Amino acid sequence: MTSASGSHARFSAPAKKNLGQHFLTDAGYIERIVMAVNPKPGDRLVEIGPGQGAITFPLLKKHGKLTAIEFDRDLIEPLTHAAQAIGALQIIHRDVLSVDFTALADGGKLRLVGNLPYNLSSPILFHALDHAASIEDMVFMLQKEVVDRMAAGPGSKVYGRLGVMLQAYCTVTPLFVVPPEAFRPPPKVDSAVVRLQPLPPAEIAVRDHRHFANVVRAAFGQRRKTLRNALSTVCDSAQIEAAGLRPDARAEQIEVVGFIALANLLASTHSE
Ligand code: SAM
Repeated sequence: MTSASGSHARFSAPAKKNLGQHFLTDAGYIERIVMAVNPKPGDRLVEIGPGQGAITFPLLKKHGKLTAIEFDRDLIEPLTHAAQAIGALQIIHRDVLSVDFTALADGGKLRLVGNLPYNLSSPILFHALDHAASIEDMVFMLQKEVVDRMAAGPGSKVYGRLGVMLQAYCTVTPLFVVPPEAFRPPPKVDSAVVRLQPLPPAEIAVRDHRHFANVVRAAFGQRRKTLRNALSTVCDSAQIEAAGLRPDARAEQIEVVGFIALANLLASTHSE
């Protein structure tokens, strides 16, 4: 294993568990993430959780410019200091969940990157989804188990709300697995890097986000139940059938397009 040590000299504070701090130290995996991002001139890179700069500095060196969103105040000064000799680093000292990506994009599109704090990975993914129209792509490292859920299809034990919601709006491409030894301190589980590419608006079949989110939440809220029972507060059997689905099927058997068809049907009924 190799170490990307040089940039850590100015960061003496211990990792904070409550902020999900597991710093990537393996130069080989850092390089693979930078290659996956592969910044092009004009790209607007935004890193979530730069930490001690493991990914930040190599990206900054390659691209010259980067915006980073970091919540830990103890990291802001050392990051700012270390970046000075490398490139233009803009640091937003905020909780990423309070950052308005649409406003940050200012009419353009952002490329998000991050070794995410694992305790916040689902909220960050749903937050990004809310701003998908302003995002070109995302290269994220998450727990491997979460990446498996994001990419799962019907019939898989880990197919559920997260996968359906993301796949309705994005292509989800798992890239590679990263073992615990690549981090300091090491997490307890394997990690994985995934690319998410929001679909062009014309390819998004969901007509009403609220209905879609309600249907998916209800269907997987009680995943062992039939659709008829799990969705009883949202719609009736006739509507499930009208959307081309079997009321006695379970959520884990339904393709993403099936949930979209049902949500669109309900949205059109409610708007009449
Ligand atoms: N990118 C660094 C690396 O790969 O070594 C650090 C990754 S560490 C897993 C997650 C980072 O996210 C930490 O720097 C942590 O302080 C930051 N973080 C945690 N919660 C955050 C939040 N709500 N908003 C912004 N950053 C946050």
